Amino acid sequence: MKKLFLLLLLTSFSITAQQVDLAYYLPDGTYNPAIPTPKSVIGHEVGEWHVSHDKLAEYMKALAKSSDRISIENRGITFEGRPLLLLTITSPENHQNLESIRKKHIDGTNNFSADVSNDKIVVYQGFSIHGNEPSGSNAALAVAYYLAASQDIDDLLENTVILFDPSFNPDGLQRFAYWANTNRSMNINPDPNDREYREVWPRGRTNHYWFDMNRDWLPVQLPESKVRIESFHKWLPNILTDHHEMGSNSSFFFQPGIPSRTNPLTPQMNQDLTKEIATYHAKAFDKIGSTYYSEESFDDFYYGKGSTFPDINGSIGILFEQGSSRGHAQETVNGVLTFPFTIRNQFTAALSTLEAAKNMSVKLLEYQQDFYRNSKKSETNKAIVFGDAKDAAKTYHLAEVLNRHKIKIHELNADVTIDGKTFKKDYSFVVPMNQKNQRLVKAMFDVRKKFKDSFFYDGSALSFQHAFCVEYVNYFSVSKT
Ligand SMILES: [Zn+2]
Repeated sequence: MKKLFLLLLLTSFSITAQQVDLAYYLPDGTYNPAIPTPKSVIGHEVGEWHVSHDKLAEYMKALAKSSDRISIENRGITFEGRPLLLLTITSPENHQNLESIRKKHIDGTNNFSADVSNDKIVVYQGFSIHGNEPSGSNAALAVAYYLAASQDIDDLLENTVILFDPSFNPDGLQRFAYWANTNRSMNINPDPNDREYREVWPRGRTNHYWFDMNRDWLPVQLPESKVRIESFHKWLPNILTDHHEMGSNSSFFFQPGIPSRTNPLTPQMNQDLTKEIATYHAKAFDKIGSTYYSEESFDDFYYGKGSTFPDINGSIGILFEQGSSRGHAQETVNGVLTFPFTIRNQFTAALSTLEAAKNMSVKLLEYQQDFYRNSKKSETNKAIVFGDAKDAAKTYHLAEVLNRHKIKIHELNADVTIDGKTFKKDYSFVVPMNQKNQRLVKAMFDVRKKFKDSFFYDGSALSFQHAFCVEYVNYFSVSKT
């Protein structure tokens, strides 16, 4: 008994005395002393406490103020009035020409430039869309510091535009930080039964109205999604990363997911590139001695998710899942999982993504242009029509979703009958297939009834004309009318 007591004391002591230092996360190198560290602004080390959104925002603003590599914008507010910040991180020279870099990038997806070797690659890095999966947003503190302060990344910054979204879900992050910090003991108790690890309902996963925002990338109904999708279409990133957490007994997952659960509208090349990017994560995790896996869980099917939505837009969406400490340190089948450890893994994946982007930029830029070039070649004389003769509001709100995705639609200039169905002027819209976002249109309107696999992690069949309960005709020949 005495021995057990001593052992318990030692365990408790080791967790209490765990000194978290910024150096734990950072690679060796030279750092600009003029850039404020997270601790100097928010008052505690990364991983010592769960960062509240207020402090996260305070630090991002401080970084933007002190670094000519970073600009910051507030794109709107959450239901609870928190800012929806986006940092743009690139070289100071690129910042001088940012709008022309953006236009050239978008132009490449419209007119397909012959040579992309001098083009900048665009990477969107987003964290903790589920607020109680906090290692992502807490890692964002260290990643942003690294990108502002490291003096060894000129090459990366010169060739990359990073759109950095430190918190996809500010209200959920704040709710979870309150819980974990309020219930933290002076001597951290890693017993999973401790109150700290039993977050009270409704928990921090969702936003203010308890919506899971990681199903809203396609429907775009929530304020957080609206500004994010606007940023996405404005820049069309080549890679988008989505940092999550999963059960505490797991290690670290990165995509590809289970191959048979990939949406058939996603080109095979997308999965091949995802796999090649994964080799960078594997190498980085080997270097720090963390375990990981790929292709054995999660899927890439429902386009309303952050890691799948980019796949139908010429981009590569990547899901990261870290086993959660769901507090400051928790016992698991693998031993005590500390919060700083989970943050370090997310930090490592964020950097390996940028390494892959830098080395694979030509491949990824060419892939994106091919994606849109091939879209324009097929079904050019076809269209979709949808409407409801009695309820103009349903039609209007479906059209609103399409507008948010920059999908071209037309009003009817007269009543029309197609395949025996009559569509009334002012109550119907036509979606031509001859447009840039043709594959995204298909993602919303295809009626899928056959699947390669009978199991899914997530949504499988979803068609917007059924979700909105409107009459429709899919892919009719325009010559018919
Ligand atoms: Zn999640």
